[in-house]
Amino acid sequence: MNCRNCKKPLTHSFVDLGLAPHSNAYLTHGDLRKPERYYPLKVCVCEHCWLVQTSEYSRSEDLFTADYAYFSSTSKTWVEHTAEYYRHVKHLMNLDSDSFVVEIGCNDGCLLKHFFQDNIPCLGIEPTLSTARAAEGLGLSVLQEFFSEKLGSTLEHTHGLADLIIANNVFAHVPDITDFTRGLKAALKPSGMVTLEFPHLMRLISEKQFDTVYHEHFSYLSLNVVNNIFSDSGLRIWNVEELFTHGGSLRIYASHIENNDSVLGSVSNLINKEHAFGLQDLNTYFKFQHDVEQIKDRFVGFLTSLKNDGKSVAAYGAAAKGNTLLNYAGITADLLPYVCDASSSKQGKYLPGSHIPILNPSVLSERLPDYIIILPWNIAAEIREQNQELSLSGTKFVTVLPELLIS
Ligand SMILES: [Zn+2]
Repeated sequence: MNCRNCKKPLTHSFVDLGLAPHSNAYLTHGDLRKPERYYPLKVCVCEHCWLVQTSEYSRSEDLFTADYAYFSSTSKTWVEHTAEYYRHVKHLMNLDSDSFVVEIGCNDGCLLKHFFQDNIPCLGIEPTLSTARAAEGLGLSVLQEFFSEKLGSTLEHTHGLADLIIANNVFAHVPDITDFTRGLKAALKPSGMVTLEFPHLMRLISEKQFDTVYHEHFSYLSLNVVNNIFSDSGLRIWNVEELFTHGGSLRIYASHIENNDSVLGSVSNLINKEHAFGLQDLNTYFKFQHDVEQIKDRFVGFLTSLKNDGKSVAAYGAAAKGNTLLNYAGITADLLPYVCDASSSKQGKYLPGSHIPILNPSVLSERLPDYIIILPWNIAAEIREQNQELSLSGTKFVTVLPELLIS
């Protein structure tokens, strides 16, 4: 196995979570009697270019399927984040009806609809049929394809070059990130700007967010590595912002290297911070597995003690990260009988691997569980707020990472 960026041999493990099914492969009742496919869930670090990446990987077509169940608009936190980004970037770039905006991985149109509603010409690129249909339902034009250098190069002729290319939470989901980056270069106007958001590797390590490891995530990114990949493809990152989304993300701003735009101090500051944290030191990566095993042991111990004490428990949020945690810890319905999720596309289905049923959150007010495990900890505040009545009735909320917390 060679590094997907620098092509040198990949020899060091960062974290090994054993075997797991694809975390977005939700099951119907009929699927429960069929065998499930398990794939290795192991992440390695390249000691040459420091790209952290899955060691073996599935084809994108097997992961981002027609019935892909993640709809951005389900999360209130994300909806607010996209509206804020839109206001910011429209002002920054003076976007108007003469501009052209491309969003890669537009999902259900959660962000792109703002441009559309303001008469700013825009195009979504989204490979998953379920979400692309939802975006088209809002009136958006969507190319139902995976983005690549090839697609980026054809856009000039089919739609024109873009003033702004957005890709939020897409870069880590792309197997060939160097090809993807060359596509950004090819589809961008000479004066254009690219903004990308991705979860920050430094936060993953410092906050032990091992449940953000799943098959759809091919890369775990630092600014240093992305900066190098961009400059190798002829793009220059000139600004970076640290965001709270997805447990700590970066938003980078880039333009063509030929523009000689001045680079803000934020870029070198953060690259230095990453270096001081140890992102170019193998020992930083080797410690992680031990931390992860400790979290798993405590979580299993907690659920077992609830069962022994006759306490009732439910989970909230049938998100991909929950599946990583539950499958790695070997939790099934005997310890965690059901999970609630507001997304109607998941209700009535079962979590992959653990086979825990997904129910409508309305059952919580009838069943009044003693404890609710919040699986998507990144929106824990939102979930607590939506379920204040349960807290008043005595239900306690639990988050598992970076340590077990009951409130
Ligand atoms: Zn490498």
